[in-house]
This record gives sequence, C-alpha cells and structure tokens, in this order.
Amino acid sequence: MRNSSVWKATLGLQSVVVERVDAAQDAVTGGPLIEVRVRSYEREQSRCVVCGARCPGYDAGPPARRWRALVLGTVPVYLVAALPRVRCAVHGVRAARVPWARAHSRFTRQFEDQVAWLATHTAKGTVGALMRVAWRTVGQIVDRVVEDAKRGRDLLFGLTRIGIDEISFRKGQRYLTVVIDHDTGRLVWAAEGRDKQTLNRFFDQLGSARCAGIELVSCDMAAWICGPVQERCENAEVCLDAFHVVQLATDAPDQVRRQVWNEARKAGMGEQAKQLKNARFALWKNPERLTDRQAAKLSEIQATNRTLFRAYLLKEQLRQIWRAPTFEAAMELLDGWLSWACRCQIPAFVKLSKTIRGHRERIAAALFHGLSNARIEAANTTLRLIARRAFGFHSADAMIALGMLKLGGLCPPLPGR
Ligand SMILES: [Zn+2]
Repeated sequence: MRNSSVWKATLGLQSVVVERVDAAQDAVTGGPLIEVRVRSYEREQSRCVVCGARCPGYDAGPPARRWRALVLGTVPVYLVAALPRVRCAVHGVRAARVPWARAHSRFTRQFEDQVAWLATHTAKGTVGALMRVAWRTVGQIVDRVVEDAKRGRDLLFGLTRIGIDEISFRKGQRYLTVVIDHDTGRLVWAAEGRDKQTLNRFFDQLGSARCAGIELVSCDMAAWICGPVQERCENAEVCLDAFHVVQLATDAPDQVRRQVWNEARKAGMGEQAKQLKNARFALWKNPERLTDRQAAKLSEIQATNRTLFRAYLLKEQLRQIWRAPTFEAAMELLDGWLSWACRCQIPAFVKLSKTIRGHRERIAAALFHGLSNARIEAANTTLRLIARRAFGFHSADAMIALGMLKLGGLCPPLPGR
C-alpha cells in the first residue's frame, strides 16, 4: 500500500487524492499537528456547494483552506486544500463542493458526525472536552448534520397514527409544537410556537393527500390542536389522551379541599383547617402509592369531611376507566362516572363532567384504539432535557435540530462503524 493510500484509509477519505502529509505546529498552542494536503478527484471538482451541479470556474479562491479532521492518536489533524469558486447557473458565485466536508463547514464530515453522535449520547461538557469545540459550535454542527440527513429523506412519509403535543422551554416562556409517529415512536416534526398557525404549517407540509391518510391523532383538549386536525384531516379520529383527562380530575379535589379549608378557617375551626391543609398529597396521590400517614389522613377525611372524600372518590373512579379490561366496560364506567359527577353537587366536578362529556367521543376513540400519548410524553421528557442542554445554542432551531437528531432517527453512526 502506498503511503497516500494509508492516509486515505486512515482518514476515511473518498474521491480524494492525498498529495502530501506534513508535521506542523499549532500557531496558538505550539503543539504538534498534522496537515494533510488533499484535492478532489477530477469528477468531484467544479461543483456548486449548494446543488452539486457541475459549473464553470469563477476564480481560484483561497489557495489553502483548512478543515479540522478527527484527532489521530493525540495529534490534531487538518485537511488542507485550495478552494476554487464556481459560477452556478442557479446559485451564482459559490465555493466549490468538497467531498470531505459539508457546505460552509470548517470541519470534516467525520468530525461532524462524531460530534453529532456524541451530542445525542453524552453530556454537554464531555462533547466539548473530547472534541475541543465550544458548545455553540456543537449547535451549528448539529444543525448542518440534520439538514444533510433530511436531504433525500421524507420524514413525513406514510404517517397514519400521530400524536401532537406542546412542550415548554426557557422556563415556560417559549413553546414547541411536536408531532410524533406512533408507529415508529419517532419525532417527525417540530416547530416553535403553540397555536393554529404553527400546526397548520405542519399540515401544509404534509399536503392534502397525506393529510387524508392520517387515521388517528392523539392529543390533549387544546382547541388549537383539535380544530386544525378536524379541518385538515378529514379521515382522522381524535383520541383524547387519558393522561390529560386524569390530570384535570387530579386538580379538582384540591380545589374542593381549598374551599373546605377556607370555610373551616372562617368558621374558626382551626384544628380541622390545619388538618385539611396538610391533606393535599393524600388526596392527590394514587392510592397505591400512599404512605401510611397519608392513608391515615385519608380515613380521617372520610370520617370528618364527606364532600371532600366524595371528591377524592370521583377522581379515583375516573382513573379506573383506563384500567377497565374491555372497551365496553370502560365506556360503562365512563358513562356511570359522567352521571355521578354531574349530580354530585361539587361545583369543580360538575364543571369537569361537562368538559369531559363534551369530549366523550374522543375519549372513546382513545379507549377503543388503545392509543395514548405515553410515547409522546416520553419523547417530551427527552426533549425537555435537550432543551435544558440546548440553552447555550441560543436558538429554537438548534434545539429542534438536536431533538430531530436524537428522536427523529437522524443521528449518523460513529465514523467508520
Ligand atoms: Zn448550485
């Protein structure tokens, strides 16, 4: 094997001629580095960096541009090449495309792939220390890798069962709308904002033919989701996620508790008021998770405060609907619950029963198809973690890119694997 071939194989270069390899010194640190002088194969030369079309040359460009490659052993490696400019009929005067790097990048593809892989698999500090790049640079690299991976791939192909949700970031000041494919578990779309306009952009991208192919959509009760879904996806059934329904019921006993507590306080029943104040968690938690003390608190409420205990039972009964063995049994429980709740004379639950009655069909659809937002909730947990890390990227787009990399199946394999 000739020396140049060894270098080519070591650096994983394709369509490239290695002209020379030099030991050099880092201008800043004074440490050793390797400079590998390369040029593209003839057939790869004079191509537009944007579209890859062969174009007439424009000028010679800089005689020696450098691209950071993966470290070899302990020594940093740079590829060095001339970067002529070409005149593309569509894109005007541009740098020529090079086979070893993505457009507008100062890093080789392999370097970027490794950074992207690490960004989805390990902590922020590790990526920076190992690859010797700033976290902000990681954001830019992730962006390029995702754009590149998306090219020639249709993430919205063949969608039939999707989940739509929102997640907040920057301490709840900003929001993303996310769309997940229930069949693959993948994040297929995300954009900043949580309103009809944002969601309609998703349906615009999907196009009317594929909108018609959507069969099931799981989501919460938000009008900005349900509205566009019904307008744009004529064949879709909306499945209301159990988690969101139960969450509404979880808040209701607490409203009752506060009300009863206020009444007891005003009536000068200090001791009872104090007890109620501490009962919050006992009422809120799932019964199978109660501590002994919380269970005791609950029996106390049962004995002393019947309204509050009834509120508790209403909450628990609603939860049971999603545990019913069959669809029919679940619907029977749901209808039983609705008629109990609307007659219970506890305002918080009367109101809730009206809300839930309004969504009865959507709840039924979720029960029938067994579709829950569990997957999307799991994805959201991951996205929230990403959001915290992506804070340093300074843009929602970079955060979305990291999300797509991790949850959208766009992460490249480690170089050479
Ligand atoms: Zn072009």
